[in-house]
Amino acid sequence: MSKVDLHTHTTASDGLHRPKENVRMAAEAGLSAVAITDHDTVAGIAEAAAAAPIYGIEVVPGVEISTSLAGKEIHVLGYYIDIRDGLLLERLISQRKVRDSRNEGIVARLNELGIPLTTEQVAEAAGRKPGAIETIGRPHIAEALVRIGAVDSVQEAFDRYLAKGRAAYVDPPPRITPFEAFAWIREAGGAAIVAHPGLYGNDELAAELLDGGADGLEAYHSDHEAEQAERYRGLAENRGKIVTGGSDFHGARKGKLYHGAIGSRSVDASVLERLRGARG
Ligand code: AMP
Ligand code: ZN
Ligand code: FE
Ligand code: FE
Repeated sequence: MSKVDLHTHTTASDGLHRPKENVRMAAEAGLSAVAITDHDTVAGIAEAAAAAPIYGIEVVPGVEISTSLAGKEIHVLGYYIDIRDGLLLERLISQRKVRDSRNEGIVARLNELGIPLTTEQVAEAAGRKPGAIETIGRPHIAEALVRIGAVDSVQEAFDRYLAKGRAAYVDPPPRITPFEAFAWIREAGGAAIVAHPGLYGNDELAAELLDGGADGLEAYHSDHEAEQAERYRGLAENRGKIVTGGSDFHGARKGKLYHGAIGSRSVDASVLERLRGARG
């Protein structure tokens, strides 16, 4: 009966709410657990875990690792990882270095286009400097572009400059493959799940990732249609893999939610046992 949202972002990456606020909102939405899955960092988890007893729900420690395969960006979710595992923390530092240099490339490209954005302005919009334990992402660059008046909205920043293929899009330096991310997560004692397969537009790829070592697939996601979710559920179940889901909550900007509200996508709490059972 009880439901869990296994995909939420906080201010530790590009979410707009603090970790403890995600926990409060999850409790208010009637969930029995919420996962904190920030991009390439576990910096938000301690605060969320401390809030868990206050709101009487479970916080699942998680992470969303950016990887690439054949030129496609693939996100891999890790659950129940040991957030004090030294090797995992080192590996996440290397992930953030890749981001920081990609971000520098984007700023340089914007400058070439005549937009005088500086890395300092991006750091100010993000509330952190490169090298911090929290991540800086494209949404922060978008926010900085709004602040200097180069665009009117974050969405316009993506549509004109930052989305893949747009004027200031820069491919990151070589990223790890999803298969390496599965190993990182399992070596840190976690379960590895392929995030939002619908965003890759390639079901054979989703099957290849499942057969290549993922523990499961995120079938339920704010950007998946009901029919896609059922297809991905089948793909995972047919292989005896775990079916997960979550909102990919990032918060709302000027009343507009990107992805979905906490609890808008969820799965049965019994999935948590399967995730714990699949751990490396
Ligand atoms: P990054 O990990 O720094 O490349 O930033 C990726 C994040 O940017 C995603 O998790 C979304 O929150 C956001 N994003 C990606 N594409 C778009 C888009 N087309 N419009 C708005 N936000 C986007
Ligand atoms: Zn994000
Ligand atoms: Fe993602
Ligand atoms: Fe996400």
